[in-house]
Amino acid sequence: MFFGYPLAATENNWLHDCVLESVKNVHALVEAEKRYPAWPKILPNEYQARLKSRTGLRDRIKAYNNALRKLSSKGERDYILAAVTDQNRIADLLSNACDCAALDALPSAIHEAAISLFDFAFVMLTDLKVRDEHYTAIYNAAIEHVCPFCGTEYFDAPGAPREALDHYLAKSRYPFAAANLRNLVPMGHKCNSKYKLAADVLYDADGVRRVALDPYNHTSIAVVLDDSDPFDGSTPITPRWTINFDPDARAVQTWAAVFSIRERYQRDHLDEGYLAWLKEFQNWARSADRLADTDDSLVESLRRFEQLCAVNGMRDKAFLKAAAFRMLRLRCEQGHERLKRLLRDLLAPPTTTAPCS
Ligand SMILES: [Zn+2]
Repeated sequence: MFFGYPLAATENNWLHDCVLESVKNVHALVEAEKRYPAWPKILPNEYQARLKSRTGLRDRIKAYNNALRKLSSKGERDYILAAVTDQNRIADLLSNACDCAALDALPSAIHEAAISLFDFAFVMLTDLKVRDEHYTAIYNAAIEHVCPFCGTEYFDAPGAPREALDHYLAKSRYPFAAANLRNLVPMGHKCNSKYKLAADVLYDADGVRRVALDPYNHTSIAVVLDDSDPFDGSTPITPRWTINFDPDARAVQTWAAVFSIRERYQRDHLDEGYLAWLKEFQNWARSADRLADTDDSLVESLRRFEQLCAVNGMRDKAFLKAAAFRMLRLRCEQGHERLKRLLRDLLAPPTTTAPCS
């Protein structure tokens, strides 16, 4: 992803904290062979008055208690309790500093109750306005109002129909983190519903453990197209793109794989936009009286246009355009004669035939 979200946006995590503490209270009572208390005494003291009327929450914590008490093995119960904690060590899991048991490794007797309770808590985040406050904090802190996972989808302002809120660690595998704001990230519709889906960012398709970017703790990354060939891609005059990232870290490769970034950029943005970008370059150069009668003037025009795109950041895919024109400039500097001919013709006065006019 191209920028991280502010950790401060996750501070209002009280509902998750409350439910997690309540589950730990259930485990403690079961191990002490004590009876389940009257509602809402299973909740931490500070949340009892606030959540007393929430009968859906009441029923689901009680159902979790009943399911847990059916497990006669203390070892199985302890294994579940460890997963309750470990599935929420989000930063450590993403950096591969720790592991956790996923749902399918837990005793099946607890599955339904665990999923139901934490799914319900996730839905409560909307009702309790926690979700909207979380999104507003992220939106207001962002310089660019785009989906940072692809850089090409715009985010609407708070108050508009809500953007998707992705469970970064999929709730189908890590249900105890389903209502944890640290695991919840606003995401564009395409990234969420067409590409990431329920992919496990901690394991690849072959089940190999991997590291992943932490949406709340990482610096920006850049797209690098320098190794592309200026011709003979999807058409003879479209570049054959080589898409790299800086830094080229393992977590960046996980991100690119989970969100199909290379495939999407080549098909939907680079191939699709390239001829229009050349036309834009032509229009800009002509309006600025920038001719390309020498190699130096051509390179300088490319450099100026690249810089113009770069200052526009993520808007209108300007970061991809800047990377493409950087590649064209580098190739011209290296003496790519076919490319220089094409670009010189492009910037020639309008009376001359230009390939993109
Ligand atoms: Zn996106």
